[in-house]
Amino acid sequence: QTDESVPHVVILGAGVIGLSTAHVLSEKYPSYKFTVVARDLPEDVDLNSQAWASPWAGANWSPIGGYEEKKYKRELITFNKLWDMISSGLIRTLPSRICYAEPVNDAKFWYKDIVRDFRILDEEEVPSGAVAGVAFTTVSLNPQLYLLWLRNELNARGVIFLRKRLYSIQEAAEIAGPQGVVINATALGARSLIGVEDTAVYPIRGQTILAYAPGVQEFLAHPLGLSSVPTGEATYMIPRPAPHGHVLLGGTFQEDNWNLSVDFDTARDIWRRCLQLAPALNDPETRILGHNVGLRPARRGGARIEAQWYSLPLESEFLPPPAEGAEKYDFLVIHAYGFGAAGYQGSWGAAEEVAEIFAEHFKLVA
Ligand code: FAD
Repeated sequence: QTDESVPHVVILGAGVIGLSTAHVLSEKYPSYKFTVVARDLPEDVDLNSQAWASPWAGANWSPIGGYEEKKYKRELITFNKLWDMISSGLIRTLPSRICYAEPVNDAKFWYKDIVRDFRILDEEEVPSGAVAGVAFTTVSLNPQLYLLWLRNELNARGVIFLRKRLYSIQEAAEIAGPQGVVINATALGARSLIGVEDTAVYPIRGQTILAYAPGVQEFLAHPLGLSSVPTGEATYMIPRPAPHGHVLLGGTFQEDNWNLSVDFDTARDIWRRCLQLAPALNDPETRILGHNVGLRPARRGGARIEAQWYSLPLESEFLPPPAEGAEKYDFLVIHAYGFGAAGYQGSWGAAEEVAEIFAEHFKLVA
């Protein structure tokens, strides 16, 4: 292969989806050139930018919503991959309980063969305020350390990182060159990226408290705070593998809410609800480390993983007209965004799905 025949793959977005996709593709195609282009990069964790979701996640693998075939496959692949990474220290096993305000039956638990040790709780094991519950073992990670690990892996493979805010999908295509490919992992950014402009993308606001609470050793999700009128509260606690004793306390699920400010009434309420469920938060060593708000990048109709051919240069009322005589060419973009509350737990499976589309298209155009 000559250099010109080596496809240049531009991954637009450095959240968990962009980085995991870059990881899978650069492993499968070590001779290709990869560039991750993003406004926010993993090393920004100390800057506390809320413009992206990935630093603000819990993050554990926990069932969200009902059964859906593609989601099931993605999350199964990811669970197994994360489980295999436990010995790295980046991932921990997490005893878990999810409790419900209404009776449950087996049919609801589409995920019971993905997680480990799944069982329905006996009545006396259900905490007060709930009427039923399940227990299982899952995994959790510290998102900021995990993003840095992904970045380091990619650096070691020669993947280039470029900090840049792009305004159109065309700019990404120009970085890749006419023979290249763009993976669009811009999450909420897909709403305002010219050429994509996906209005189905919306935020689910999540306010949380980061605490040092080594006494909390279990993931617990409880209907406390949920009322018959949905107010967007949810009560959960996610212990992380590192640093020692770090636990994320939640939280809110507020759809279409773009507010990035911490609301201290909400914070008080999160603390009160978690304290009610986990007396260990009363231990003298417990400390609040921070109050966070992150926007989960959701999409009506579910995550979008699909190929789209663009005819470039793009003709758009929002862009200057293409140069006189500019040659038209077709350009492949693979979209991977809209993972909402489940980006980490779907990340490796999503990356594999992108890789399948990638392989299929490269055979077609080869
Ligand atoms: P992002 O992390 O938002 O990354 C988008 C990237 O695209 C960034 O690099 C950004 O800079 C870049 N970008 C966007 N537009 C442009 C542009 N125009 N030009 C250049 N770059 C651009 N998930 C779980 O699986 N488990 C959990 O326990 C969990 N808990 C959560 C708790 C909270 C409070 C929140 C907020 C989220 C949680 N999530 C959880 C969800 C998870 O964080 C997201 O699904 C995931 O981070 C989405 O990753 P992403 O790569 O798609 O998007």
